[in-house]
Amino acid sequence: MSANATIDELVVLSGKGGTGKTSITASFAVLAGQAVIADCDVDAADLHLVLSPRARERHEFWSGREAVIRQADCIGCGECLENCRFGAIRPTFSVDPVSCEGCGVCVRFCPANAIDFPERRCGEWMVSDTRCGTLVHARLGVAAENSGKRFPRSGARLGPSPRRPAVRSSSWTGRPASDAPSSPR
Ligand code: SF4
Ligand code: SF4
Repeated sequence: MSANATIDELVVLSGKGGTGKTSITASFAVLAGQAVIADCDVDAADLHLVLSPRARERHEFWSGREAVIRQADCIGCGECLENCRFGAIRPTFSVDPVSCEGCGVCVRFCPANAIDFPERRCGEWMVSDTRCGTLVHARLGVAAENSGKRFPRSGARLGPSPRRPAVRSSSWTGRPASDAPSSPR
């Protein structure tokens, strides 16, 4: 790289939590001056702890789905309990929303069509001002996450301004960091 080379975009990623992605990203953001920064962490986006953002936009963040059994239509066959590999079906044939991973297997196997499968509101994503520039980040609910599962309506796609450098932090989601947050986990 020549001495005059510029960096337009820098992506910090790792599949392992606790490696220091957020600290490194915050450091580069400070060095970059006025950058566009995106915290795309799938589980615990926490760059906001360092950059103290002031939110200027807030949006609902929807990702994935969760099963909901309609008790009135359930015939108690037990297919959902038997086939849910995440142990999210209670013996009384109701769904534990914290354990449900939204895989849809129970919906598929239910012979009575008694399981609804609505989209899950996981939290909110924001565009904020910080002392280092614009930060795109999210706050997720308890046990909510953005683990890379793709559904038809998964939110807006975001991209940095081409005129300013971008610093992004992302855990591995199996897709480009520019897809998250399609929300931002
Ligand atoms: S959607 Fe998947 S994880 Fe959720 S209750 Fe049904 S089978 Fe279990
Ligand atoms: S598979 Fe459907 S009908 Fe059978 S127990 Fe589960 S919700 Fe009820």
